[in-house]
Amino acid sequence: MASTTSNAELVDEYRARTPASAQTFARACQVLPGGETRAVTTYLPYPVTIAEGHGARLCDVDGHSYLDLVNNYTSLVHGNAFAPVTEAVGELLPHGVAFASPHLLQIALAELLIDRLPSVERVRFTNSGTEASLLAARIAVRATGRRRLLMFEGGYHGSAAALLPTSPDVVTAAWNDLDAVAATLDDGVAAVFAEPFLGAGGVLPSAPGFLAALQELAHSRGALLVLDEVQSLRNGIGGEQGRHGLTPDLTVLGKIIGGGFPIGAVGGRSELLELTVASTTDHVAHNGTFNGHLAAAVAGATALRHLDAPAIERLEDSAARLAGRITEGATAAGVPATVSRAGSILNVYLDGPDRLAALHLALLLDGVYTTPRGMINLSTALAPADLDSAARAYQLAFTRIGTV
Ligand code: PMP
Repeated sequence: MASTTSNAELVDEYRARTPASAQTFARACQVLPGGETRAVTTYLPYPVTIAEGHGARLCDVDGHSYLDLVNNYTSLVHGNAFAPVTEAVGELLPHGVAFASPHLLQIALAELLIDRLPSVERVRFTNSGTEASLLAARIAVRATGRRRLLMFEGGYHGSAAALLPTSPDVVTAAWNDLDAVAATLDDGVAAVFAEPFLGAGGVLPSAPGFLAALQELAHSRGALLVLDEVQSLRNGIGGEQGRHGLTPDLTVLGKIIGGGFPIGAVGGRSELLELTVASTTDHVAHNGTFNGHLAAAVAGATALRHLDAPAIERLEDSAARLAGRITEGATAAGVPATVSRAGSILNVYLDGPDRLAALHLALLLDGVYTTPRGMINLSTALAPADLDSAARAYQLAFTRIGTV
Protein backbone atom coordinates (compact mmCIF):
# COMPACT_ATOMS: atom_id res chain seq x y z
CA MET A 1 0.00 0.00 0.00
CA ALA A 2 1.66 3.15 -1.24
CA SER A 3 -0.12 5.43 1.23
CA THR A 4 1.03 3.64 4.36
CA THR A 5 4.05 4.61 6.42
CA SER A 6 7.04 2.28 6.76
CA ASN A 7 8.76 1.63 10.06
CA ALA A 8 11.78 3.66 8.89
CA GLU A 9 9.61 6.68 8.12
CA LEU A 10 7.95 6.44 11.52
CA VAL A 11 11.36 6.28 13.20
CA ASP A 12 12.55 9.36 11.26
CA GLU A 13 9.45 11.28 12.24
CA TYR A 14 9.83 10.17 15.85
CA ARG A 15 13.48 11.28 15.98
CA ALA A 16 12.58 14.66 14.52
CA ARG A 17 9.83 15.13 17.11
CA THR A 18 11.72 14.06 20.24
CA PRO A 19 15.27 15.54 20.28
CA ALA A 20 15.24 16.19 24.04
CA SER A 21 14.29 12.56 24.69
CA ALA A 22 17.14 11.45 22.42
CA GLN A 23 19.54 13.60 24.38
CA THR A 24 18.24 12.32 27.73
CA PHE A 25 18.56 8.73 26.55
CA ALA A 26 22.16 9.29 25.43
CA ARG A 27 22.91 10.68 28.90
CA ALA A 28 21.08 7.79 30.58
CA CYS A 29 23.18 5.28 28.65
CA GLN A 30 26.30 6.71 30.31
CA VAL A 31 25.09 5.68 33.75
CA LEU A 32 22.22 3.20 33.36
CA PRO A 33 22.94 0.04 31.34
CA GLY A 34 20.82 0.26 28.19
CA GLY A 35 19.69 3.67 29.38
CA GLU A 36 17.05 2.24 31.67
CA THR A 37 16.52 0.66 35.03
CA ARG A 38 13.78 -1.87 34.31
CA ALA A 39 13.45 -4.14 31.34
CA VAL A 40 10.09 -3.09 29.94
CA THR A 41 10.62 0.63 29.51
CA THR A 42 12.83 0.80 26.47
CA TYR A 43 12.16 0.42 22.75
CA LEU A 44 13.73 1.47 19.47
CA PRO A 45 15.04 3.93 18.55
CA TYR A 46 14.91 5.25 22.17
CA PRO A 47 12.10 5.80 24.64
CA VAL A 48 10.48 9.17 25.20
CA THR A 49 11.47 10.59 28.57
CA ILE A 50 8.39 11.44 30.57
CA ALA A 51 8.83 14.54 32.70
CA GLU A 52 5.53 14.56 34.56
CA GLY A 53 2.05 13.14 34.70
CA HIS A 54 -1.31 14.56 35.73
CA GLY A 55 -4.46 12.49 35.63
CA ALA A 56 -4.72 10.80 32.25
CA ARG A 57 -1.96 12.94 30.71
CA LEU A 58 1.80 12.55 30.52
CA CYS A 59 4.21 15.23 29.38
CA ASP A 60 7.61 14.43 27.86
CA VAL A 61 10.82 16.45 27.99
CA ASP A 62 10.12 17.84 24.50
CA GLY A 63 6.85 19.29 25.78
CA HIS A 64 4.52 16.79 24.04
CA SER A 65 1.41 15.63 25.81
CA TYR A 66 0.27 11.99 25.76
CA LEU A 67 -2.88 10.21 26.79
CA ASP A 68 -1.67 7.66 29.34
CA LEU A 69 -2.86 4.13 28.55
CA VAL A 70 0.03 2.52 30.46
CA ASN A 71 -0.52 3.83 34.00
CA ASN A 72 2.84 2.49 35.06
CA TYR A 73 1.90 -1.01 33.95
CA THR A 74 -1.53 -1.07 35.65
CA SER A 75 -0.39 0.32 39.00
CA LEU A 76 -2.00 3.77 38.68
CA VAL A 77 -5.68 2.89 38.59
CA HIS A 78 -6.66 6.53 39.13
CA GLY A 79 -4.06 7.94 36.76
CA ASN A 80 -1.13 10.18 37.62
CA ALA A 81 -0.82 12.40 40.69
CA PHE A 82 -4.33 11.47 41.86
CA ALA A 83 -5.24 14.38 44.17
CA PRO A 84 -6.52 12.34 47.16
CA VAL A 85 -3.28 10.31 47.11
CA THR A 86 -0.95 13.30 46.78
CA GLU A 87 -2.84 15.05 49.60
CA ALA A 88 -2.68 12.01 51.89
CA VAL A 89 1.03 11.52 51.23
CA GLY A 90 1.67 15.25 51.57
CA GLU A 91 0.03 15.26 54.99
CA LEU A 92 2.10 12.26 56.04
CA LEU A 93 5.56 13.46 54.93
CA PRO A 94 6.27 15.93 57.77
CA HIS A 95 5.52 13.20 60.30
CA GLY A 96 7.98 10.55 59.12
CA VAL A 97 7.49 7.71 56.65
CA ALA A 98 9.17 4.60 58.06
CA PHE A 99 9.70 3.50 61.65
CA ALA A 100 10.99 0.27 63.12
CA SER A 101 7.59 -0.33 64.69
CA PRO A 102 4.03 -1.16 63.69
CA HIS A 103 1.98 1.79 62.50
CA LEU A 104 -1.72 2.59 62.24
CA LEU A 105 -1.44 3.18 58.49
CA GLN A 106 -0.09 -0.36 57.94
CA ILE A 107 -2.91 -1.78 60.01
CA ALA A 108 -5.47 0.29 58.09
CA LEU A 109 -4.26 -1.00 54.71
CA ALA A 110 -4.21 -4.60 55.97
CA GLU A 111 -7.76 -4.20 57.34
CA LEU A 112 -8.92 -2.80 54.03
CA LEU A 113 -7.47 -5.76 52.10
CA ILE A 114 -8.94 -8.24 54.58
CA ASP A 115 -12.34 -6.54 54.19
CA ARG A 116 -12.24 -6.86 50.41
CA LEU A 117 -10.76 -10.35 50.07
CA PRO A 118 -12.55 -13.01 52.13
CA SER A 119 -9.66 -15.48 51.64
CA VAL A 120 -7.27 -13.02 53.28
CA GLU A 121 -7.14 -13.15 57.08
CA ARG A 122 -3.62 -11.84 57.62
CA VAL A 123 -1.26 -9.71 55.53
CA ARG A 124 2.52 -9.28 55.32
CA PHE A 125 3.85 -6.31 53.38
CA THR A 126 6.87 -6.29 51.09
CA ASN A 127 8.32 -3.70 48.71
CA SER A 128 7.32 -5.27 45.40
CA GLY A 129 5.21 -7.98 43.84
CA THR A 130 8.39 -9.96 43.22
CA GLU A 131 9.22 -9.99 46.93
CA ALA A 132 5.65 -10.95 47.76
CA SER A 133 5.82 -13.93 45.37
CA LEU A 134 9.10 -14.99 46.96
CA LEU A 135 7.56 -14.81 50.43
CA ALA A 136 4.47 -16.75 49.30
CA ALA A 137 6.76 -19.44 47.89
CA ARG A 138 8.69 -19.68 51.16
CA ILE A 139 5.48 -19.95 53.18
CA ALA A 140 4.16 -22.67 50.84
CA VAL A 141 7.42 -24.64 51.06
CA ARG A 142 7.44 -24.35 54.85
CA ALA A 143 3.75 -25.30 55.15
CA THR A 144 3.87 -28.35 52.88
CA GLY A 145 7.42 -29.62 53.36
CA ARG A 146 7.64 -29.75 49.55
CA ARG A 147 9.93 -27.60 47.45
CA ARG A 148 8.69 -27.21 43.89
CA LEU A 149 6.39 -24.54 42.43
CA LEU A 150 4.08 -25.14 39.49
CA MET A 151 3.70 -22.11 37.25
CA PHE A 152 2.12 -21.49 33.87
CA GLU A 153 3.91 -21.00 30.58
CA GLY A 154 3.68 -17.26 29.91
CA GLY A 155 2.90 -16.57 33.57
CA TYR A 156 4.78 -13.89 35.49
CA HIS A 157 5.22 -13.57 39.22
CA GLY A 158 8.34 -11.41 39.41
CA SER A 159 11.89 -11.17 38.18
CA ALA A 160 13.72 -13.20 40.86
CA ALA A 161 15.53 -16.37 39.72
CA ALA A 162 13.38 -18.58 41.98
CA LEU A 163 10.25 -17.39 40.15
CA LEU A 164 11.43 -18.01 36.61
CA PRO A 165 10.82 -21.17 34.56
CA THR A 166 14.60 -21.70 34.48
CA SER A 167 14.66 -22.32 38.25
CA PRO A 168 15.30 -25.99 39.09
CA ASP A 169 12.37 -25.80 41.53
CA VAL A 170 9.86 -24.47 39.01
CA VAL A 171 7.81 -26.82 36.84
CA THR A 172 5.47 -25.45 34.19
CA ALA A 173 2.23 -26.37 32.51
CA ALA A 174 0.41 -24.85 29.54
CA TRP A 175 -2.10 -22.12 30.45
CA ASN A 176 -5.73 -23.23 30.64
CA ASP A 177 -4.67 -26.90 30.29
CA LEU A 178 -5.93 -28.80 33.31
CA ASP A 179 -4.65 -32.13 31.94
CA ALA A 180 -1.15 -30.67 31.74
CA VAL A 181 -1.44 -29.51 35.34
CA ALA A 182 -2.69 -32.93 36.45
CA ALA A 183 0.29 -34.58 34.74
CA THR A 184 2.80 -32.20 36.38
CA LEU A 185 1.35 -31.75 39.85
CA ASP A 186 3.13 -34.47 41.82
CA ASP A 187 3.78 -34.73 45.54
CA GLY A 188 6.87 -32.56 45.27
CA VAL A 189 4.83 -29.49 44.37
CA ALA A 190 4.28 -27.10 47.29
CA ALA A 191 2.13 -24.62 45.43
CA VAL A 192 0.49 -23.83 42.16
CA PHE A 193 1.13 -20.20 41.27
CA ALA A 194 -1.48 -18.74 38.96
CA GLU A 195 -2.58 -15.35 37.74
CA PRO A 196 -6.33 -15.10 37.15
CA PHE A 197 -5.36 -14.18 33.56
CA LEU A 198 -1.90 -14.14 32.03
CA GLY A 199 -0.93 -10.48 32.49
CA ALA A 200 2.58 -9.88 31.21
CA GLY A 201 2.01 -12.99 29.09
CA GLY A 202 -0.46 -11.10 26.89
CA VAL A 203 -3.67 -10.52 28.89
CA LEU A 204 -5.03 -14.00 28.21
CA PRO A 205 -8.12 -14.80 30.30
CA SER A 206 -8.67 -18.14 31.97
CA ALA A 207 -11.03 -20.62 30.33
CA PRO A 208 -14.46 -20.87 32.01
CA GLY A 209 -14.18 -22.98 35.15
CA PHE A 210 -10.42 -23.43 34.81
CA LEU A 211 -9.39 -21.60 37.97
CA ALA A 212 -11.97 -23.32 40.19
CA ALA A 213 -10.91 -26.71 38.82
CA LEU A 214 -7.27 -25.74 39.33
CA GLN A 215 -7.93 -24.87 42.97
CA GLU A 216 -9.65 -28.21 43.52
CA LEU A 217 -6.90 -30.15 41.78
CA ALA A 218 -4.14 -28.41 43.75
CA HIS A 219 -5.89 -29.15 47.04
CA SER A 220 -6.60 -32.77 46.10
CA ARG A 221 -2.86 -33.24 45.56
CA GLY A 222 -1.89 -31.53 48.82
CA ALA A 223 -0.55 -28.37 47.17
CA LEU A 224 -1.51 -24.78 47.95
CA LEU A 225 -3.06 -22.39 45.46
CA VAL A 226 -1.21 -19.08 45.33
CA LEU A 227 -3.26 -16.60 43.32
CA ASP A 228 -1.23 -13.70 41.97
CA GLU A 229 -3.55 -10.68 41.93
CA VAL A 230 -0.80 -8.11 41.45
CA GLN A 231 -2.46 -6.93 38.22
CA SER A 232 -5.94 -8.33 38.58
CA LEU A 233 -7.06 -6.85 41.91
CA ARG A 234 -8.35 -3.78 40.03
CA ASN A 235 -10.96 -5.93 38.26
CA GLY A 236 -13.24 -6.51 41.24
CA ILE A 237 -13.83 -5.29 44.79
CA GLY A 238 -12.75 -8.77 45.82
CA GLY A 239 -10.26 -9.03 42.98
CA GLU A 240 -10.65 -11.70 40.32
CA GLN A 241 -10.93 -14.31 43.08
CA GLY A 242 -14.29 -12.75 43.99
CA ARG A 243 -15.44 -12.92 40.38
CA HIS A 244 -14.41 -16.57 40.06
CA GLY A 245 -15.55 -17.70 43.52
CA LEU A 246 -12.04 -18.79 44.51
CA THR A 247 -10.54 -19.18 47.97
CA PRO A 248 -6.81 -19.24 47.35
CA ASP A 249 -4.59 -20.25 50.25
CA LEU A 250 -2.33 -17.30 49.58
CA THR A 251 -2.81 -14.17 47.49
CA VAL A 252 0.04 -12.12 46.09
CA LEU A 253 -0.65 -8.41 45.78
CA GLY A 254 1.19 -5.33 44.55
CA LYS A 255 0.84 -2.41 42.15
CA ILE A 256 -2.49 -0.62 42.97
CA ILE A 257 -2.35 -1.41 46.70
CA GLY A 258 0.54 1.08 46.91
CA GLY A 259 -1.38 3.88 45.14
CA GLY A 260 1.65 4.48 42.89
CA PHE A 261 4.32 3.79 45.50
CA PRO A 262 6.45 0.62 45.72
CA ILE A 263 4.69 -2.17 47.59
CA GLY A 264 3.82 -5.84 47.62
CA ALA A 265 1.88 -8.03 50.02
CA VAL A 266 1.07 -11.62 50.77
CA GLY A 267 -2.35 -12.30 52.22
CA GLY A 268 -4.02 -15.53 53.13
CA ARG A 269 -5.21 -17.95 55.75
CA SER A 270 -3.98 -17.00 59.18
CA GLU A 271 -2.33 -20.33 59.96
CA LEU A 272 -0.18 -19.91 56.85
CA LEU A 273 0.70 -16.27 57.48
CA GLU A 274 1.39 -17.04 61.13
CA LEU A 275 4.34 -19.13 59.94
CA THR A 276 6.15 -15.81 59.59
CA VAL A 277 5.74 -15.05 63.30
CA ALA A 278 9.08 -15.15 65.11
CA SER A 279 7.72 -17.29 67.97
CA THR A 280 6.66 -20.06 65.52
CA THR A 281 9.08 -22.99 65.42
CA ASP A 282 11.20 -22.84 62.25
CA HIS A 283 9.43 -19.67 61.27
CA VAL A 284 9.83 -18.12 57.85
CA ALA A 285 11.95 -15.13 58.80
CA HIS A 286 10.63 -12.21 56.83
CA ASN A 287 12.41 -8.88 57.02
CA GLY A 288 12.70 -5.78 54.93
CA THR A 289 13.78 -2.33 56.02
CA PHE A 290 10.97 -0.66 54.12
CA ASN A 291 8.22 -3.28 54.53
CA GLY A 292 4.96 -1.47 55.14
CA HIS A 293 6.38 1.89 54.12
CA LEU A 294 3.90 4.48 55.27
CA ALA A 295 3.79 6.53 52.07
CA ALA A 296 2.82 3.38 50.15
CA ALA A 297 0.41 2.33 52.89
CA VAL A 298 -1.50 5.60 52.98
CA ALA A 299 -1.39 6.03 49.19
CA GLY A 300 -2.61 2.47 48.64
CA ALA A 301 -5.45 2.70 51.14
CA THR A 302 -6.55 6.01 49.62
CA ALA A 303 -6.45 4.63 46.07
CA LEU A 304 -8.40 1.52 47.07
CA ARG A 305 -11.09 3.50 48.89
CA HIS A 306 -11.68 5.41 45.66
CA LEU A 307 -11.86 2.19 43.66
CA ASP A 308 -15.42 1.24 44.58
CA ALA A 309 -17.78 -1.08 42.72
CA PRO A 310 -19.25 1.62 40.42
CA ALA A 311 -15.73 2.79 39.50
CA ILE A 312 -14.71 -0.78 38.65
CA GLU A 313 -17.85 -1.23 36.55
CA ARG A 314 -17.18 2.00 34.66
CA LEU A 315 -13.59 0.93 33.99
CA GLU A 316 -14.73 -2.43 32.68
CA ASP A 317 -17.48 -0.96 30.45
CA SER A 318 -15.08 1.58 29.01
CA ALA A 319 -12.46 -1.10 28.40
CA ALA A 320 -14.97 -3.34 26.61
CA ARG A 321 -16.07 -0.43 24.40
CA LEU A 322 -12.49 0.59 23.64
CA ALA A 323 -11.57 -3.01 22.73
CA GLY A 324 -14.48 -3.05 20.27
CA ARG A 325 -13.51 0.28 18.74
CA ILE A 326 -9.87 -0.73 18.35
CA THR A 327 -10.93 -3.89 16.53
CA GLU A 328 -13.27 -1.87 14.30
CA GLY A 329 -10.49 0.60 13.56
CA ALA A 330 -8.18 -2.22 12.51
CA THR A 331 -10.85 -3.76 10.31
CA ALA A 332 -11.57 -0.41 8.66
CA ALA A 333 -7.85 -0.01 7.91
CA GLY A 334 -7.59 -3.58 6.61
CA VAL A 335 -5.09 -4.55 9.34
CA PRO A 336 -5.55 -7.99 10.88
CA ALA A 337 -5.64 -7.35 14.63
CA THR A 338 -7.23 -8.88 17.69
CA VAL A 339 -7.70 -7.46 21.15
CA SER A 340 -7.70 -9.57 24.30
CA ARG A 341 -9.18 -8.19 27.51
CA ALA A 342 -9.41 -8.99 31.19
CA GLY A 343 -11.49 -6.37 33.01
CA SER A 344 -9.86 -3.00 32.37
CA ILE A 345 -6.61 -4.42 30.94
CA LEU A 346 -6.28 -5.04 27.19
CA ASN A 347 -3.70 -6.34 24.78
CA VAL A 348 -3.65 -5.53 21.07
CA TYR A 349 -2.24 -8.29 18.87
CA LEU A 350 -0.91 -7.81 15.33
CA ASP A 351 0.88 -10.39 13.26
CA GLY A 352 4.59 -9.74 13.68
CA PRO A 353 6.68 -7.82 16.20
CA ASP A 354 7.56 -5.20 13.55
CA ARG A 355 3.91 -4.33 13.11
CA LEU A 356 3.50 -3.95 16.86
CA ALA A 357 6.57 -1.70 17.05
CA ALA A 358 5.17 0.39 14.18
CA LEU A 359 1.79 0.68 15.90
CA HIS A 360 3.49 1.74 19.12
CA LEU A 361 5.49 4.48 17.38
CA ALA A 362 2.51 5.66 15.31
CA LEU A 363 0.47 6.03 18.50
CA LEU A 364 3.27 7.92 20.27
CA LEU A 365 3.47 10.27 17.30
CA ASP A 366 -0.23 10.93 17.73
CA GLY A 367 0.07 11.56 21.48
CA VAL A 368 -1.07 8.20 22.84
CA TYR A 369 1.20 6.41 25.31
CA THR A 370 0.96 2.61 25.08
CA THR A 371 3.33 -0.29 25.72
CA PRO A 372 5.60 -1.83 23.09
CA ARG A 373 4.01 -5.23 23.67
CA GLY A 374 0.50 -3.94 22.97
CA MET A 375 -0.84 -3.94 26.53
CA ILE A 376 -2.94 -0.99 27.60
CA ASN A 377 -5.11 -0.41 30.65
CA LEU A 378 -7.58 2.19 31.78
CA SER A 379 -7.58 4.55 34.72
CA THR A 380 -10.52 6.33 36.30
CA ALA A 381 -8.87 9.58 35.16
CA LEU A 382 -9.77 8.89 31.52
CA ALA A 383 -12.84 10.87 30.48
CA PRO A 384 -15.20 9.63 27.74
CA ALA A 385 -13.64 12.19 25.37
CA ASP A 386 -10.18 10.72 26.12
CA LEU A 387 -11.42 7.26 25.18
CA ASP A 388 -12.88 8.68 21.97
CA SER A 389 -9.53 10.20 21.06
CA ALA A 390 -7.74 6.96 21.94
CA ALA A 391 -10.05 5.03 19.62
CA ARG A 392 -9.51 7.58 16.84
CA ALA A 393 -5.74 7.46 17.35
CA TYR A 394 -5.74 3.67 16.99
CA GLN A 395 -7.76 3.91 13.79
CA LEU A 396 -5.35 6.50 12.39
CA ALA A 397 -2.33 4.46 13.50
CA PHE A 398 -3.69 1.32 11.83
CA THR A 399 -4.27 3.31 8.66
CA ARG A 400 -0.71 4.66 8.82
CA ILE A 401 0.96 1.30 9.30
CA GLY A 402 -1.31 -0.39 6.75
CA THR A 403 -0.95 -4.03 5.94
CA VAL A 404 2.63 -4.21 4.70
N1 PMP B 1 3.03 -10.64 39.50
C1 PMP B 1 2.39 -10.11 38.45
C2 PMP B 1 1.13 -10.75 37.94
C3 PMP B 1 2.90 -8.96 37.84
O1 PMP B 1 2.28 -8.43 36.78
C4 PMP B 1 4.08 -8.38 38.36
C5 PMP B 1 4.68 -7.13 37.75
N2 PMP B 1 4.39 -6.85 36.46
C6 PMP B 1 4.69 -8.99 39.45
C7 PMP B 1 4.14 -10.11 40.01
C8 PMP B 1 5.95 -8.41 40.04
O2 PMP B 1 5.68 -7.22 40.68
P1 PMP B 1 6.85 -6.12 40.88
O3 PMP B 1 7.14 -5.57 39.52
O4 PMP B 1 6.24 -5.13 41.83
O5 PMP B 1 8.01 -6.84 41.49
